[in-house]
Amino acid sequence: MAVAGSVLAATLDLLGEGVQPGVKTSEMDQLAERFIRSQGAVPSFKGFRGFPGSICTSPNAMVVHGIPGSYRLCAGDIISVDVGVTLDGWVADAARTFAVGEVGEKAAGLLRATEASLYAGIDQARPGMRMGDLSHAVQAVAEEAGLSVIRQLVGHGIGREMHEEPQVPNLGTPGDGPLLEEGMVLAIEPMTSLGSADIRVGSDGWSIFTRDQSLAAHFEHTVAITASGPRILTPWHRPASERPELPRPAAANGAGAAAAGSEGGRGEAEPELSQG
Ligand code: MG
Repeated sequence: MAVAGSVLAATLDLLGEGVQPGVKTSEMDQLAERFIRSQGAVPSFKGFRGFPGSICTSPNAMVVHGIPGSYRLCAGDIISVDVGVTLDGWVADAARTFAVGEVGEKAAGLLRATEASLYAGIDQARPGMRMGDLSHAVQAVAEEAGLSVIRQLVGHGIGREMHEEPQVPNLGTPGDGPLLEEGMVLAIEPMTSLGSADIRVGSDGWSIFTRDQSLAAHFEHTVAITASGPRILTPWHRPASERPELPRPAAANGAGAAAAGSEGGRGEAEPELSQG
């Protein structure tokens, strides 16, 4: 999973370098798919329950699950980029929200606090803690910064499958919930907004938006709980020199890019509790 996570971190590096006004999200999708496959890995999201993209690209008021397509990034946007990588049957899942050029102070604060809430949660991922300790740590940092935590969207266990037990909520009560044990691996992923926490599903049946159109952010790491504490398996926050080696170093143009952007066409609906 750490090697899958290293491929994932390198993919987010590439995508981050390409976050420029005028870039289409379908181009980001193709770049990611080509790089992931060049490493002998598979983009986990492609075809997952019929999802057409290799990554999720969710700009501005879109929280998660955006299908890459014809949207072009604009200066001042924020965009959540969520990537899954499967390598040798093991899955890693991570996301970060990028600023496109200069963004306003409120948007910058949203990104800063949501990322900080992720690390507060990760710090609780230790044997003997409860899920509620982790969830509460995320919630406390986000709410302290004046953000709403989107309670209908949760993280998840991860391993051979992308979504495993247990759920990893972003709100909780210290001391509650499942015991965290050595060997568990969790995808911890705060999803927050500047406005209300209410969400709606877009007309494509996938994309999830804040109902009040307020800006939303999403940061995620796959984290192993070890005897010596949390181990981040998707180290996009560290320089490449501090990550596990890629399966195929310096390869950047493998085969297999495919266009993304088909539409599902289901109506608007109230989302169930949904995993990111
Ligand atoms: Mg996830």
